Amino acid sequence: MDGAIYDILIIGGGINGCGVARDAAGRGYSVYLAEMNDLASGTSSWSTKLIHGGLRYLEHYEFRLVREALMEREVLWRMAPHIIWPMRFVLPHHKGLRPAWLLRLGLFLYDHIGGRKLLPPTRTLDMRTDPAGKPLKPLFSRAFEYSDCWVNDARLVVMNARDAADRGATIRTRSRVTSARRENGIWTVVVEDMRGRTSDTVKARLLVNAAGPWVDKVLGSTLGKNDIHNVRLVQGSHIVVKRKFDDPRAYFFQNRDGRIIFAIPYEQDFTLIGTTDQDYVGEPGEVAITDSEVAYLCEAASEYFAEPVRREDIVWTYSGVRPLFDDGASKAQEATRDYVLTAEGEGGQAPLLNIFGGKITTYRRLAEAMIEKIEGFLGRKGKPWTAGTTLSGGDFPPNGFDTEVERLKAAYGFLDPAHAQRLVRLYGTKAAVLLGGARSTADLGRHFGADLYEAEVRYLIEREWALSADDVLWRRTKRGLRLTEAEAAALEDFMHGATGHPETAAAE
Ligand SMILES: Cc1cc2nc3c(=O)[nH]c(=O)nc-3n(C[C@H](O)[C@H](O)[C@H](O)COP(=O)(O)OP(=O)(O)OC[C@H]3O[C@@H](n4cnc5c(N)ncnc54)[C@H](O)[C@@H]3O)c2cc1C
Repeated sequence: MDGAIYDILIIGGGINGCGVARDAAGRGYSVYLAEMNDLASGTSSWSTKLIHGGLRYLEHYEFRLVREALMEREVLWRMAPHIIWPMRFVLPHHKGLRPAWLLRLGLFLYDHIGGRKLLPPTRTLDMRTDPAGKPLKPLFSRAFEYSDCWVNDARLVVMNARDAADRGATIRTRSRVTSARRENGIWTVVVEDMRGRTSDTVKARLLVNAAGPWVDKVLGSTLGKNDIHNVRLVQGSHIVVKRKFDDPRAYFFQNRDGRIIFAIPYEQDFTLIGTTDQDYVGEPGEVAITDSEVAYLCEAASEYFAEPVRREDIVWTYSGVRPLFDDGASKAQEATRDYVLTAEGEGGQAPLLNIFGGKITTYRRLAEAMIEKIEGFLGRKGKPWTAGTTLSGGDFPPNGFDTEVERLKAAYGFLDPAHAQRLVRLYGTKAAVLLGGARSTADLGRHFGADLYEAEVRYLIEREWALSADDVLWRRTKRGLRLTEAEAAALEDFMHGATGHPETAAAE
């Protein structure tokens, strides 16, 4: 495409930018996506990782959003059954907080407005006899158990980028859009290579601003607009502690302040607890958990668990910034979670489309809505197509995960069962591509620690735009929880040697 004019240039490689890139490329538009850091390095890898309707949003009458999100659960599960799977949530009835009839009503709606087919419905639990009651204080005698899905958020982003690239899109990471101006109905966009510090000029008919929490910054400093205030930045943090319970179900805890937190089985040996909701001022890339958030999460979880959650139990924390559309709500937790798309480009001006807000759960529908707007400017190319398709490695039945693991173990007898399970969870049917003709562990190449070997790292470099140890350890895998600092440093050295200049490393 050297010197050519792309149909669409997308700023931002989070879930929304990559989702739009995939849908647009699949319909035949030429697409260029620029991500200033790594794919999913913004908000999209710091979520609670739920594909959910959002039970709590019913209280804020967000019926459109909840219905759309509920319907997406099974669509996305079918699309990527390796990285998305059903999870049951246990919601204990807490005397003095929301009454049981209200919880039952919410869950009735939850079960019935979202086209649920495969996911099991809500049921009531006697916590005195159900194993879910075991790790909790004996105060909770009744609970409701309902369905949602879990997603490996960072991988969902990369899988969308992969599919977009396979359909012809150009995906550039470590590439920051520094300015964009209109010239004769076309955008001239300057893209700075963050590793080489060189700049490229790219031309496109239409610009999509999918910069998440930076969306207003792009409108202001990159596009030169004044008085921009569309999104409310709301920080959310999580703590990861050693496994608090053996049950495969997650917990949904109500707090006295009206908010809720989740405690979720995480990466086999851990429990993920979050999240918080507080207004954020500052550079989104520098967000970090605060002391008061740690205290809040420990206290809120300890209200329920018989064994309290203490600061010293924390093995990792992460924080992200929600780019919520600013609807003027008084409290951060009440601001809408729905998305708003805007378009400008009347009178032959090169069009600019912006994304404000949105959830991981609704990214596919957001992309469809965005393409409708794009069609208004560039003309129609194809029908909505992403529902009913699969993402890379997800070409097996939604309930077929165990069969895939067995298949991989049979083909690669030397693999430890937990390793085989992990590879299928991350790569699905592509695990066999990653392992290639290996006949023994020695064939997997250099060992970096835990169950991470060179074959996997090289696959991530060649197929998934990994350029640094963090890209591998904290986004494409969560091996960061298992490797020592020295092992991570050795991986960083290896990455540097193996990737060289980013232009030769990024797969397209
Ligand atoms: C704590 C928390 C919990 C959440 N939990 C859930 C959940 O359980 N389920 C759910 O569905 N949703 C959840 N969400 C919401 C969801 O994570 C976000 O709505 C979603 O990830 C936003 O994606 P995005 O693509 O718009 O933004 P991002 O992922 O932030 O992507 C924007 C990208 O743009 C890039 N960028 C910015 N400026 C430039 C530039 N000038 N040039 C090039 N690139 C640029 C950034 O580097 C960034 O990668 C949660 C959010 C938070 C914070």
